[in-house]
Amino acid sequence: MLGLMQDWPLTVDKILDHSKNWHGHREVVTRSIEGPIVRTTYAEIHARARRVTSVLKGWDIKVGDRIATLAWNTSRHMEAWYGIMGMGAVCHTLNPRLFPEQLIYIINHAEDRIIFVDLTFIPLLEAILPHCPSVQRVIVMTDELTMPATKLPGAECYEALLGSASEDVAWGGFDEQTACGLCYTSGTTGNPKGVLYSHRSNFIHTLLGMQATVLGPSPSEVILPVVPMFHANAWGIAFAGPASGAKLVMPGARMDGEAIYELIEKEGVTFSAAVPTVWQGLLAHLREHNLKIPTVKKVLIGGSAVPESLIRAFHDEFNIEVLQGWGMTETSPIGTLSTMTPELAALPYDEQMKWRVKQGTPPLGVELKLKNYAGQEMPHDGHTYGRLMIKGPTIAGAYFKGEGGDILDHEGFFDTGDVSTIDEQGFMQITDRAKDVIKSGGEWISSIEIENIAVGHPAVELAAVIGAAHPKWDERPVLIVKLKPGQAQNKQEHLDFLQGKIAKWWMPDDVVFVDDIPLGATGKIDKKLLRERMKDYRLP
Ligand code: ADP
Repeated sequence: MLGLMQDWPLTVDKILDHSKNWHGHREVVTRSIEGPIVRTTYAEIHARARRVTSVLKGWDIKVGDRIATLAWNTSRHMEAWYGIMGMGAVCHTLNPRLFPEQLIYIINHAEDRIIFVDLTFIPLLEAILPHCPSVQRVIVMTDELTMPATKLPGAECYEALLGSASEDVAWGGFDEQTACGLCYTSGTTGNPKGVLYSHRSNFIHTLLGMQATVLGPSPSEVILPVVPMFHANAWGIAFAGPASGAKLVMPGARMDGEAIYELIEKEGVTFSAAVPTVWQGLLAHLREHNLKIPTVKKVLIGGSAVPESLIRAFHDEFNIEVLQGWGMTETSPIGTLSTMTPELAALPYDEQMKWRVKQGTPPLGVELKLKNYAGQEMPHDGHTYGRLMIKGPTIAGAYFKGEGGDILDHEGFFDTGDVSTIDEQGFMQITDRAKDVIKSGGEWISSIEIENIAVGHPAVELAAVIGAAHPKWDERPVLIVKLKPGQAQNKQEHLDFLQGKIAKWWMPDDVVFVDDIPLGATGKIDKKLLRERMKDYRLP
């Protein structure tokens, strides 16, 4: 027997309709690409997103057509995003930090018809567009006064288009399984692959994100998503923000410590989300200028492992709770969060640290399993490693155009490519990406764990650990260090710092000082490139 409740397709246009109707006056504040701070509201964003739809419909864009954005977090980007999705077209967020060849590859693979672009990226687009035959038009997200002279064929001014467009268009009316967003993985192995979100998956992910143990936003919250909309939907904030009626503060093109501090201070930010490297930049700025950010209660840090030193710095110096999140583009992205249970929260802070550095537990809607390579389930004892497998309505079931073939196991679980443990409290901890784990004498060494301790040394700006070939042990760990300016090189000091904090046989065989540790397109250490740079390195 079926239930008798209404059929109400879960489509994301309803999210912005809801915020217009019930939180219409709530502000969205943007550091604009042109420079000044711009203030708008959900009601205005809704009205202007409708105009975007009208423009697209005027150009015969249909349900399922891919429309790309090459843009920072701004209110205009949000308008374009909802305008595209609301009519059933697919919003393809391009990551401007990808290499030009990768961008060309994904624009062609997605067959994008139109690209919305920020002023910042016009030179980039001018260079790649001749190689992207599917793109018919480019919309420059600025007004007529600042519209630059550009070689881009078919370039049009966003504000000029919106000025003459009607708000009288229909949204929704399609199946909730209709594709809604497209985001390519950064392609650390092989070509980038497209993750094709549906309206239903994004709607469910929004509800999932609104759980108190996840983002838990409310109308009294002021959220600063530093994490870009092109990095897995700003981790869901571009949906959960408007859905909850929280005020949003959009950082535009500036993510340096000074710029982020200014926004936090002026707008009264209570919650923010970003990758660890952004937070390191903010902390450096706060310390250097002896500043505090008392409005901020909680920060979500994810995308790569969060070092203990970062969690402690926020807690001890700024009284801010760090919530660690783990996820991937393929998981929309929320997978797990390090939310303390009441039992753990009752422990002295130092003892909580054992769990705070872990990636945590999944919210309702996400299933996790630990399996070995034969597909058998591994125990949740906190030390047995396994492949982390994930399942749920917000997890990819296949890549766009079938790239990579069948990606689910016989039980319908997706292999994350991460190696992890799960402990008795249910806390998952990433040991490494399968391809980064260091194999020494048949045992595994977690590069992440060593890095996270090493970066806590006061002289260290960035630390990475990679495996170097060893005749007897196969591989041995090498610690690569980028020092803070003005710090002296002393290998032993860094090894001494690790002493007693990791197993003896995990101790790196060498420390190498470098001027630069490369970061990838989403602000994480690019191990692939680092290994390439170190390919001629031999252990002493
Ligand atoms: P990309 O590889 O394109 O940067 P993703 O953001 O999808 O894109 O990366 C997902 C991967 O990032 C995960 O599989 C995991 O290896 C790593 N990751 C994400 N969050 C964490 C975290 N909190 N701790 C450790 N690793 C993380």
